[in-house]
This record gives sequence, C-alpha cells and structure tokens, in this order.
Amino acid sequence: MNEFELIRRYFAACTSSREDVVVGIGDDCALLNPPSAQLLAVTTDMLIAGRHFPLDASAFDIGWKSLAVNLSDLAAMGAQPCWFTLALSLPEPDQSWLGEFAEGLGRCAKEFGIALVGGDTTRGALSISITAMGTTDSATSMRRDGARAGDVICVTGTLGDAALGLRLWQRRSFCRELVNTDLELLWGRLHRPQPRVSAGRALRGLAHAAIDLSDGLAGDLQHILSASGVGAEIRVDQLPMSPAFARATPEADRLALQVSGGDDYELCICIPPKELDSIRSSLDIPLVEIGHITTEPGLRWLDGQGRPLPVTAGGYDHFQ
Ligand SMILES: [Mg+2]
Repeated sequence: MNEFELIRRYFAACTSSREDVVVGIGDDCALLNPPSAQLLAVTTDMLIAGRHFPLDASAFDIGWKSLAVNLSDLAAMGAQPCWFTLALSLPEPDQSWLGEFAEGLGRCAKEFGIALVGGDTTRGALSISITAMGTTDSATSMRRDGARAGDVICVTGTLGDAALGLRLWQRRSFCRELVNTDLELLWGRLHRPQPRVSAGRALRGLAHAAIDLSDGLAGDLQHILSASGVGAEIRVDQLPMSPAFARATPEADRLALQVSGGDDYELCICIPPKELDSIRSSLDIPLVEIGHITTEPGLRWLDGQGRPLPVTAGGYDHFQ
C-alpha cells in the first residue's frame, strides 16, 4: 500500500463533508472557500508517541486527541472549526492501528463539523501533526493580550483530571482500590479531551482574553498576564475539581496537579465582572470564578483566607 492508497483508504471518508471545500484530498493542494469578511484562524499541534500520549494509548484515542487538542486552540480564540490537514509518520502501515486511528480522528471531526482536506504520510517514529483552520471575525475574536485589571478570571469544567488520569494510567496495576467509574472518567479526560468549542463561540465579544489550558493553569495563565501586561491573584480553594478527582487524590497532591498538570483543555478566560452572570447562563458547561486580574504584575496564589501561598509550580515546558 503506497501513501496515496493509505490516505484514500483510511482517511478520505472519515470526516465531515463541507460545501466550502472546493477541492479536498487528492490534488496538490486543497481549495477552500472561506466566508468573506471573516478571519482565518490557523493552528498546528504535533503529538509525539511517549511524550504527548502514552505509548500504550489506544489508536482510537490517539486519533481523537490529535484533533481535539487543535480544536481546543480554535475554541480559545472563539473560532468556528472548518478544515484540517494531517501529517502522519508511523513505523509501519499497521492496518488495524490505522483503521482505529482513523475512526477516532473521524469521530472527533464529525462531532465538531470539521473536514480533513489534505495530508501526508511517511515512515518514521509515530508522530501526528495536525493543522486546523477555522473562521472568526476580527471584532469578537478572543486573544491573550486583552485582559484588564479588575477582570474576573474563570475556568470552564474542572482542573487536574487529566494529570491525575496520566498518573493513574502509568500506575494502573496499583490502583485497584479506586472506583472503576472514577478511573474511567479520569482516563477519559486524559485520552479524549472535549474541546470547548461551543463555549468559545459563546464567549466572543464578551471575554477580554482567553487561553486553553494545555500545559497547566500556572504556565498558561502566565501567557495571558505577559501578553496583557497585568498580574493576577488566584484563590486556590476555588479551583474546580471533579468528584472523581477529589476522591482519588490525597489532599497534599491536589494543588500541584490542578496548577501545573497539563492536558485539561479547559478554557481560562478573563471577563468584566458585570458579564459573569449572563455568560454563565449562556454556557453549556460550568464556569467557575478562580481569581481576578490586578494592575500589579506577577501571579499570586492565595489560600481560602486570602493568605499568600508559596506556589512555585510552572506549567509543563517541553524544553525543560
Ligand atoms: Mg493553546
């Protein structure tokens, strides 16, 4: 099977079809017809086996997650997902692996209405690189540089589940005492993240700044603070945790997982306080207030009584 057959066989029919794809897979380029007066939002994420997903993760989950992490970046800017390309390097054309991978990728693509429009395959260590494209309009797209002093900082969903899921996945022969449904939830959060696309769309024009949490709250929020030239105070007792996380994590470990654990793919947003109630009621997922933006630069962590906590944890950095 050559690379063209491989793409046709496994990927050609795996995603949504869209009317704005003039030429899709199979020519030198895809030809796309973006809506006029919209900006194109473009993002690339690369996933390497053993670094971004466990070597023993299922092919379906790897397919899902490869696309989901890109959709999360589109969500963070309020963009509507439209098209993506796939560059896949794999050690050998393992047919059952490819079939499952394409199924996971396709399931995620169909759920979010995004179409695969091109790609490339080559032999090598397992890695997946996806470039996803979406549309948004300039007036309402969310960026990292718009946070203002007084903004409320909120996060969607819960924090720490995926980092705990990874820890439990790596030690899974030792965690028999855990409730099975808790394990399933935590592993689901690790392997099949849900990009917050509809929340991102609903926040357009309301949030001053947003970022998706891929590398951990501490590191990712710092990107907003640096880009916006502001600081923040975060109340660690307000960080939302799932019941499964609360049951499965000793209290001493919670903060590190919630603050520097990666892979949550929730949105962290900065919004004017007066918008909080209306935003909350328009979202299909919980939005929790965890702190506020300050004029004084730096990121400060406070306990339940408002006392400073010496949190030194940064986000995940691939080069450290
Ligand atoms: Mg991101």
